[in-house]
Amino acid sequence: MSRGLFQKSAIAPRTISVFLLDRTIGIRVLYKPIKNVYLRVSPDKTITLSVPKRTSEEKVEAFLKDKRGWLEKQLRKMDRREDPNEEFSLSDGEIVRFLGQKRVLRRLRASKNETLFFSDPFEIRLCLKDPTDDALAHRTYRKDGRLVLENMIVACVDKWMPVFEKRKVPRPEIRVRKMRSVWGTCAYKKGVITLSENLLRAAPASIEYVVLHELTHFLYHAHDKAFYSFLSLHMPDWKARKTKLTEKD
Ligand SMILES: [Zn+2]
Repeated sequence: MSRGLFQKSAIAPRTISVFLLDRTIGIRVLYKPIKNVYLRVSPDKTITLSVPKRTSEEKVEAFLKDKRGWLEKQLRKMDRREDPNEEFSLSDGEIVRFLGQKRVLRRLRASKNETLFFSDPFEIRLCLKDPTDDALAHRTYRKDGRLVLENMIVACVDKWMPVFEKRKVPRPEIRVRKMRSVWGTCAYKKGVITLSENLLRAAPASIEYVVLHELTHFLYHAHDKAFYSFLSLHMPDWKARKTKLTEKD
């Protein structure tokens, strides 16, 4: 079959892989009896491009190149909506997730800005000099939440370090940051593990899994068989802990 002939009848849908933000996304291209080009991002982040029949490959690629900025903006917006910490408005009476539990947030007027995470088993008390100040509420919650999370992470590292020290892995530097779409990363050459602030909402067992996962990268850089056998040997229920990370309820 000549290439010309093939192009003429190329109306079956196809998928183009494009690198957007921090991920590779397959964009489905549909050839339809239409006049204009339509680009759609679905809530599940699949991207569909509908083009008139017989639109050339070059035109499709040029169009996607042109729309790259717009596509990344849409994906970023969806990421943000998915980010459970960003979802919280931290208004009085709101249900927030904290260390795998649901708690009622209380905004209270106080002489000091502080978040009391452990003064009540069902509530989180957000004490603020001005309880109507949303920005202050977010700042205070974020600052105090980080401390709680950092302490938990340090406890996990303390627990697991003996296993790694035996294999000549020095204690890494731990950083907690706002991260998009990942729970953690390991820069094994620099000896740094970076973990997401969003882990504050995860159950302690799941936080421990993320810490062990990143520590394991000092021994096995890739997600290969050796990586997973090491993980399974030391934490047989790691899959269940991982699944819980993304559960909404
Ligand atoms: Zn990994």
